[in-house]
Amino acid sequence: MAAGAAAVLLPGAADAADRGLSIASALRLHDHESHTRLVLELSEEVDFGLFRLADPDRLVVDLPELDWAVGNDAPGGAGLVRSVRFGLFQTGNARIVVDLVGPANIKNAFVLPATGGTPFRLVVDLEPMDRAQFMAVVGPQNRSGKFGVPATMRAAAAQLPSVKSPPPDAKPLKDPNRKKIVAIDPGHGGVDPGAIGGGGIYEKIITLAAARQLKARLEGTGRYKVILTRDRDVSLGLSERRDIARAAEADIFVSLHADSMANKAVRGLSVYTLSEKASDKEAEDLAEQENGADNIIGIDLSRESQEVRHILVDLAQRESMNLATKLATRLINELEREIKLVRNSHRFARFAVLKSPDVPSVLIEMGYLSNRDDETALRKDAYRARLMSAVVRGLDAHFSPSQSASRL
Ligand code: ZN
Repeated sequence: MAAGAAAVLLPGAADAADRGLSIASALRLHDHESHTRLVLELSEEVDFGLFRLADPDRLVVDLPELDWAVGNDAPGGAGLVRSVRFGLFQTGNARIVVDLVGPANIKNAFVLPATGGTPFRLVVDLEPMDRAQFMAVVGPQNRSGKFGVPATMRAAAAQLPSVKSPPPDAKPLKDPNRKKIVAIDPGHGGVDPGAIGGGGIYEKIITLAAARQLKARLEGTGRYKVILTRDRDVSLGLSERRDIARAAEADIFVSLHADSMANKAVRGLSVYTLSEKASDKEAEDLAEQENGADNIIGIDLSRESQEVRHILVDLAQRESMNLATKLATRLINELEREIKLVRNSHRFARFAVLKSPDVPSVLIEMGYLSNRDDETALRKDAYRARLMSAVVRGLDAHFSPSQSASRL
């Protein structure tokens, strides 16, 4: 009897899913030079409310009750943010408490629509602020945003706000069960031979041979659809290669190379992803080109302000970079079981071919044709087959259900 009564009184006894709560799947911080960005990924569009507190300086974000699936992805500090805490504040009201390094102005705060493969995102941009100005706006009475819960109305807060439908422009979320689409990009081709080995082999020949081997292996699993940016000896611009991957709605772009170095002793494999600096600049350029940005992130941006366009492209690019970095780690884990890698085998560079804002992209430098041993090895089908099998295992790990679940 007593046990039964206790169960009934337990707060939160109702199953979150049954109550149709929005799922918060990721919480990230980005330190830009001028501002600090907080991003919360959400399964639904929600209202929110914001206010700030002093001593210690904090930003409070109130949201409808959420099903927190953020797990260990909760960020540490970055930029203006010392730390972030989150959870259920009271029935019907989830709360994020952002501990600030100092007074902060709320530069932007809005929920972005879901696009292609990305969920809704609450974005809050913070910039430094004068202490006196900050003190004038702190306190719950200075709440901004639609979602607010005065203490006298707590009962009403139990009513969850109705969920808005996604904007008509948003593409449906990708079917998680569909085959993953991998764009493989054999480097160079046509009039551009790439590096030339001491023994006379052209890089463009090696990269195409490896790409075909990788394609056959990926398709052999039944889990992938594969597109080659080129399947013959033809010249292709770097932007054309990216465009092919984007048009195919590729989940991953893998560029294959085997370049040369002045130091002929250097050998081994490395995996490159785009460097952070390069991506900031690229996001800016793309946001400027309204039409270019439109088809990049899958929603009509012409009705959005320059500011929102910029943020959308920037977020798409950062998300792609996060995924590319995760993939690079998995590829390296698998490849180092097969062959010797160069030191610092995961490298960051400004390769133009990696700059798709919406397709996570990696470049695998399979070895150096300037090195006699690497050239000899890369000429061999069996050697490349070992490398490409390791790449398949890396992609499998990247796309394994547990991984995609954590991404939602
Ligand atoms: Zn190359």
